Order: sequence, then structure tokens, then C-alpha cells
Amino acid sequence: MAARYTIGIDIGGTNIEGGVCDEQGVLRRQRAIKTEVEHGFEHTFQRMVRLVDDLLQDAGLTKTDVLAIGVGAPGPLSHERGVIYTAPNLPGWRDIPLQAKLSEATGLPVTLENDANAAAFGEFTAGAARDVRDMVMLTLGTGIGGGIVLNGLLWRGRFDSAAEIGHMVIVPGGRACPCGQRGCLERYGSANAVIERLIEAVQAGESCALASRLAAGEKLDARDVLRAAADGDRRAARIWDETCYYLALAAVNMQHVLNPELVVLAGGLAKAGERLLTPVRAHFEEQRWKIAPDTPEIVLATCGTDAGMIGAAALARAAQAGR
Ligand SMILES: [Zn+2]
Repeated sequence: MAARYTIGIDIGGTNIEGGVCDEQGVLRRQRAIKTEVEHGFEHTFQRMVRLVDDLLQDAGLTKTDVLAIGVGAPGPLSHERGVIYTAPNLPGWRDIPLQAKLSEATGLPVTLENDANAAAFGEFTAGAARDVRDMVMLTLGTGIGGGIVLNGLLWRGRFDSAAEIGHMVIVPGGRACPCGQRGCLERYGSANAVIERLIEAVQAGESCALASRLAAGEKLDARDVLRAAADGDRRAARIWDETCYYLALAAVNMQHVLNPELVVLAGGLAKAGERLLTPVRAHFEEQRWKIAPDTPEIVLATCGTDAGMIGAAALARAAQAGR
């Protein structure tokens, strides 16, 4: 029987998600294991190899049924070389030739991809962007990951670092970013940026319903800010609204550079649903170009945490087809 299936693996700092996808890119079986990053790369790698075997067993398949494996991983990494250079949430992983190692251990072709790119391709394959040709996705979490699909193909750029939309400068001379620049989008539009900016406002002496909880040393996050805003706290509401404004500006900029059909919002902050989408759309409507009707629709992702493995599997299939 011809190899019809692909396996997608999404490596995160806490969990590794694995899935078997069919020819249409539909997820047929899935499993998750703990990354157990504290035991070092070799330990995690052996668990990943076992995950592939377990997935095949679950699906009643053998390796001859599988065309290729796709892996989405945090970076920076090189898709072309198949090497993870380093990853802040995978301590000790440095210059890991994951593509070659996993291919040797499994006997299958392997494609390595940046996790944000893989997630965007997952939404393009089976989620919010499945009926479009050109899309941009923003994954709003600790930072902001980006992915761009143009003409049905993932856009990686010449140096493998296209779609670093989180590091688009949105405020000249603005907040410092660990990347070395100032004013990056992810310092204003990520889940972390929401709570950080609220803490800064409170430290600057601005009044806020969350001030006493912060003073008591409670660890708050973006959900607390959103809840305080919903309860009528004006400071929290202003910071949430500013976050939506900056994300809308990013969408305006992407409209002019790429002219996509869809801008998809994903990640932890997107769990706010309509409370994120409605103000982002309103700010976009206010800021956008009015002289031509070529504006993208802004929508929420639909694949959730499955997007990474679905996308990685689809990219493995694309690589085998020479795309
Ligand atoms: Zn940056």
C-alpha cells in the first residue's frame, strides 16, 4: 500500500503533541507526552521516537504507511538545515540537528519547521483559513509568533525568518524587547505585555482595582486584566483596549505589505474570543485604508493546540511534493 499518512509533532516547553493525519490533512489519532525538558535533549528525543511508534500502533499503521514526519519546534531554527539553534523554553538544546537525528531513528523523511509557521499552516490546512489562499496568523502568547501563507505556500523568507511579526516595530523608541530592538509589537500585543503594562501603570502610581493584589505579591495574568476591565476598572480597560489597538495597527500594516484575505488571531490571548475580536476589528476599521475595498477579514483560529501538529504534518507532505 502506498504511504498515505503523515505524522505531525509539535514540541513545546511543557508538552509534545503528536498526531497522525490522512491525505486530506485530517487528524486521525493524537497523543501528548510531557517534554520533561529537565532531563536533557537525549531523554526527550528518545521519548519522541517512542511517541512515533505509539501513534502508529494507535492508528493500526506501520512505517510503510507513512510518507513523512513534520516537526514544529520553537526556535530560532533553520528549516533548510533542519537544525534547532537554540530555544529559550528548551534549556540545553543548542545546535540540535533534529531533522537528521529523527530521520535516522525512524527511517522516515523529516521536515523541521518553526512552531508559529507550523501552527499557521495548520489553520490553513484544517482551520479558520482552510478556504483561503493568502493568510497571516498571529499567535498571541508569551510573545507573538507569526506565520504567512501566500498562494497556498508557507512563506519562510530567504533567511528562514519571515513572519517575525512580533518584532515589527510598532512604537518608535518604545518598550525594550529581549530581541534587542525597541517598540516591538510583542511588547504591546502579547498576553505577557498586557499584564506587564498594567504592572508598570500601577508602579507609576495610577489607580487600578488590581493594585492591592499586585502589592500582596499575587501573580496575575492577562485574564485578570480582562476580568477587571469587564468589572469596570478603567485602567485595566484602557490597557486591554490599547492592546487591541496595536494588534489592529499590525493588521493594517500587513494589509499593505501582503494583502491577505484573512488575519487569524490565535494563542492564549485569543481565548478572550469576542472580547478580543470586536475591539481589534473596530480599531482596524478606524485605522485602515478607506480608498480601496481590499481589506482582510480578522478572525479567530479554530484548531486550538492541534494547529501545530496538523500544520507540521501538512508541511511534511508539501516537502515530499517538492513544495
Ligand atoms: Zn523584538
